[in-house]
Formats: sequence, structure tokens, C-alpha cells
Amino acid sequence: MRHRIAVIGGGPGGLTFARVLHRHGRHVTIFERDAGPDARPPGGTLDLHKGLGQFALDRAGLLPEFRAISRPEGQAMRILDTDGTVLRDWHPADDERANPEIDRGQLRDLLLGDLDVHWGRPVTRVTPTGQGGARVHVADGSAEVFDLVVGADGAWSRTRTAVSPVAPQYTGVTNVETSLDDVDTRHPELARLIGDGSLAAYGINRGLVAQRNSGGHVKVYAHFRAPLDESPGDSEEIRSSMLALFDGWSDRLLDLLRHGGTFTHRPLYVLPVEHTWAHVPGVTLLGDAAHLMPPLGAGANLAMMDGAELAESIVGTADLDDAVRAFEERMWARAARWAGITAAGLDRLVNPDPAAAVALFDEVQPS
Ligand SMILES: Cc1cc2nc3c(=O)[nH]c(=O)nc-3n(C[C@H](O)[C@H](O)[C@H](O)COP(=O)(O)OP(=O)(O)OC[C@H]3O[C@@H](n4cnc5c(N)ncnc54)[C@H](O)[C@@H]3O)c2cc1C
Repeated sequence: MRHRIAVIGGGPGGLTFARVLHRHGRHVTIFERDAGPDARPPGGTLDLHKGLGQFALDRAGLLPEFRAISRPEGQAMRILDTDGTVLRDWHPADDERANPEIDRGQLRDLLLGDLDVHWGRPVTRVTPTGQGGARVHVADGSAEVFDLVVGADGAWSRTRTAVSPVAPQYTGVTNVETSLDDVDTRHPELARLIGDGSLAAYGINRGLVAQRNSGGHVKVYAHFRAPLDESPGDSEEIRSSMLALFDGWSDRLLDLLRHGGTFTHRPLYVLPVEHTWAHVPGVTLLGDAAHLMPPLGAGANLAMMDGAELAESIVGTADLDDAVRAFEERMWARAARWAGITAAGLDRLVNPDPAAAVALFDEVQPS
């Protein structure tokens, strides 16, 4: 029997889920809040790990295309002291393919392929029918029943309340984001400083990271410990407060903030490390909706792995509910492990002792 399946959210997790099912000839209805694929800037570069994101792309039959457009050289990492001294300068070997980078927009287009997405259809809530399925309620007032509804709708998931009362909590760390365009021609000194991959500098309870995307685009992240600020001001006010916060750091590092375009303020929220729920027939979650964690290179990878795994277990079973239960157990165990690793990582990267951040780098990048 072919089941009626819906996924809420066309991010990396939802699209991987739909794409793997599509590969097996199964149809999925994809509800996406955004009006179209280019409705908002897609965000920065992602590194896809061999055993997670790349594994999921393989299950979707997309690994060769990924290899053709990803940037293995983007794995390079340079760490500076706050005075600009280079502390570490790591370059991947020519054949190193453990964590190549890909722009988020390129990954989305790769996963989208010819999938049929219902753009501009924000879901307001999902309600179990009590007979094994669930009803999707859309903002336009329409509603539709499915045998399985998969909430892949990110940190502020509207699907989550159907299975869990838990909401994300502030970590005590805020990220401020800005970006530079055409860095090689407009800011050649900064381009050389950043190199092919990422640059990071750590101070007391704060850090600055610059990551090269394709096409000379660079994303800059400033992160720092601070009470939750719900009115940080406009972009220029945020820039000024960042220049004050990082006052005394090397001019070259401050140039990343001085030359940045629009500034956005993003407090980092997480779900509890061991977030699980009592199984509800007809509804499940994957990706950030299920296990939101600090942005330390795991979230998109896990969301994609979840998507691929759930899709394959659905294809390989006659009992949909059994497949979903077994998937949840596997996802919870994997997510708890990564949530623990990334929570500890955030503590070390945004730490009263900046040496803790450099030591973490040495542990994960020993060469
Ligand atoms: C600064 C930063 C850097 C990061 N770097 C990395 C990295 O290098 N590697 C990595 O693995 N992870 C990284 N992450 C984490 C990663 O971005 C997330 O974990 C990942 O995007 C989660 O994927 P998802 O599909 O679960 O959710 P999302 O990417 O959040 O996608 C959710 C989708 O659902 C849609 N949606 C939301 N609500 C609704 C609704 N009500 N109705 C319909 N649609 C809805 C949204 O529009 C969106 O398209 C980073 C995160 C940040 C913030």
C-alpha cells in the first residue's frame, strides 16, 4: 500500500527526505513557508561530513553532483590571536574529502531537482487524527489529512507541539552575522587573510569567524556571551556595538566588521541534549525541529542523515508506524551524542580562557 506522506519544511532535512523517497518512486507533499527558493538569502557555507551529509546525498543519488560543485579547499582553517598573530594554519591534503564545503543555496538547488514543492504554504499546526494519521493546517485555512506528517520545519517548528511540549532555550551566546562581497577585488588583504577556507580568532568569552563561500562572498560571524537582547537596534547600531565589543583587537580583524554589509543579530537557542517524546502515530520530527543544537557544523548533516534514514526505512517496510518508531530511536541516540559534543564545543569556543578554543581546534584537526 502507498501511504500519503507530507513533510513540513524544505530545508536540508525535509528536501533530503523527499528526494530519497522520490528516488524510490514515492510521492511526498512538501509544504514550505517561503514563497519560492530565492525568497530570502540562503545563508552561509556548510561542511558536509563523509559519514553524515555526504552519506545522505549518496542515498539520494546525488554524491557525484556534490563532488563536482563542493569545495574541498574550503576545509582550510586559520586561527589568529586577537592581535593578529597566526596561531594555527591548517590546509587540507589534495585528496582530503572528509568535510568539503558547499554554499547552502547550491545544496538546496541540488536537493530540489524536480521535486514539486508547495511554496508559500506556511503550516500553522499539525494535529494527530487519533486513527494513525495527522492533519496539516495551512495558514490559508485549508487542511489535509496524511498517513504520516514529518516536521522538518526547523528551530521554531509548528509541528513539534503535536509530539512534544518542549521549546528551545537561549544558550547565553549570541551570534551576529554580516558578509562581504567580491572580497578578492574589493578587499584583497582580507581575502589573503581568510585564505581558501575559514579564519577564527578567540578572545575572552567572544570570537570572530570569517568563512569563504563561493564567488568571493565571505560570511562573518561574531559570537559572544551576553544576556538575551531582544532589541539590539538596526544594522548600523549592531555594527557599532560589535566594534565596541571587539575594541582593542587587531585592525585587520576589525576590518571584517568595518567592511561588513548588513548586520543581523541571532541569539543561539537549543533544545535539551536528550530531547525525546512519547511516540505519536502519524507525526514525527527530524532535523532542527527534533534536535536544535549549537551551530558547530553538525545540524544540517544530521538533518540530512535523518531525512535519508527515515525515507529508506519507509521504503523498506510494510508497517509505516513501526518504521517511524525505529527511526525515532536511532535519531534520538545519534542526536543526543552530537548535542552533547556541540554544547561542550560551544562552551570551549566562547570561554573565559581563549586557549580552550585553540585546544579544541587541535583535538579535531590534529595535523
Ligand atoms: C550560522 C550557522 C552556521 C551553521 N553551519 C553549519 C555547518 O557548517 N554544518 C552543519 O551541518 N550545520 C550548520 N548549521 C546548522 C544548520 O543550518 C541547521 O542545523 C540546518 O539548517 C537544519 O536543517 P533543517 O532542514 O532541520 O531545518 P531548516 O534549515 O531550518 O529548514 C526548515 C525549513 O522549514 C521551513 N519552515 C519553517 N516553518 C515552517 C512552517 N510553519 N510551514 C512551512 N515551512 C516552514 C523554513 O522556511 C525552512 O525552509 C549552521 C547554523 C547556523 C545558524
